[in-house]
Amino acid sequence: MSDQEILPRISKATLEAVAADEKMNLDTLRARVHSGEIVVWGQADGAVKPMGIGTGLRTKVNANIGTSPDFPSLDDELEKLHAALSVGADTIMDLSIGGDIDAIRREIRAACNVPLGTVPIYQVAIEAEQRYGTMDKMVPDQIFEVIERHAADGVDFMTLHCGVTRQSVAALDSEGRLCGIVSRGGSMLANWMQANNAENPLYEDYDRLLAILKKYGVSASLGDGLRPGAIADASDRGQIAETQVLGELVLRARQTGVQVFVEGPGHMPLDQIPGNVILQKHLCYNAPFYVLGPLVTDIAPGYDHITAAIGGAICAAAGADYLCYVTPAEHLGLPTTDDVVEGVMAARIAAHAADVVKRVPGAAQWDEEMSQARGNLDWKTMIELAMDPGLVIERRGERATLDPAACSMCGKFCSMKIDMARRHAAKPVS
Ligand code: SF4
Repeated sequence: MSDQEILPRISKATLEAVAADEKMNLDTLRARVHSGEIVVWGQADGAVKPMGIGTGLRTKVNANIGTSPDFPSLDDELEKLHAALSVGADTIMDLSIGGDIDAIRREIRAACNVPLGTVPIYQVAIEAEQRYGTMDKMVPDQIFEVIERHAADGVDFMTLHCGVTRQSVAALDSEGRLCGIVSRGGSMLANWMQANNAENPLYEDYDRLLAILKKYGVSASLGDGLRPGAIADASDRGQIAETQVLGELVLRARQTGVQVFVEGPGHMPLDQIPGNVILQKHLCYNAPFYVLGPLVTDIAPGYDHITAAIGGAICAAAGADYLCYVTPAEHLGLPTTDDVVEGVMAARIAAHAADVVKRVPGAAQWDEEMSQARGNLDWKTMIELAMDPGLVIERRGERATLDPAACSMCGKFCSMKIDMARRHAAKPVS
């Protein structure tokens, strides 16, 4: 297939921009796009920043925003969008389920200059409930109509829960779970399938789905509708059965010329994370792996940006390519703007920690430059290199010290200062 067949929206200049940004040889990048190990986004008119996920690229961070039925304010979500972008989110997903969903998505698209993803099944279920009084009456044609609506609005990727099949749900049910199906889209589809004694239309009519994605140049993010939502449910039959289906669907997407990547857990104990990455990459033919967390414990609501960052760092170090942030509001409520900022920062730290050991170009060098500045008590450079320079300035200002070369932790007993003096005074050993 030609570049144009796989990347209808993307110009050669966009591909070159991704290669330059990632310090990757253009031929290597193109080969990995063609093999499916890398997914790239961007629009020829420059409205969407060139970006890639996958083997050899910097680990990317996604921030979810979006209204809820209780908080349907577009302005709030636009504020979160700008906050997420200001602290370095690489991509945005609009998960709106409240208010005028079409209008909100279009406003977010217009204001968002990075790749944007959506989850169309939410809107399908909401419209079915508004029309028929229950989401059980979703009509398959409506699923494809909403997907095309999102595609026509210029979204770059969509979460599509195609692996929630009768067989994978049966596998999940046969083992039983503490927390059942925790994916919003996964639960909607499994419920509809049971109520209608029918197969998932996204699986059964996958070719129709691929035709829409190809027509608009939209990437498929194959959703983890059966991801574990409890430590005890990790790596169970349902999760693995779904991943096997997704592997089959990865190949069919590639054969059609649709870029595809795969979503993953969820909640997972630390020791299962590396094995899960190896298994997912193997079963899904090295498609880029996009993970929500994983959260490494269930017992810290209010701090789940931290439980997710611990899991995200291990997961990305083991080969995951793309982290979906988790905010302190996870499991508790719709995030505020402050939650969004904390979530992005936690995920960026996890992603960077992984990039250091993945040997992503420039990652370890960033740490070295910071350490050098720290060793020299070069506060100006430390601030410039900090992931959040504003916070460094704020914190230094809060606890001012009499010795501006040091900080108020040790003051005149600053070990950096003492040792700098020792090194300068040291005589060469003959
Ligand atoms: S005062 Fe202590 S904490 Fe502060 S820079 Fe010096 S060694 Fe580090």
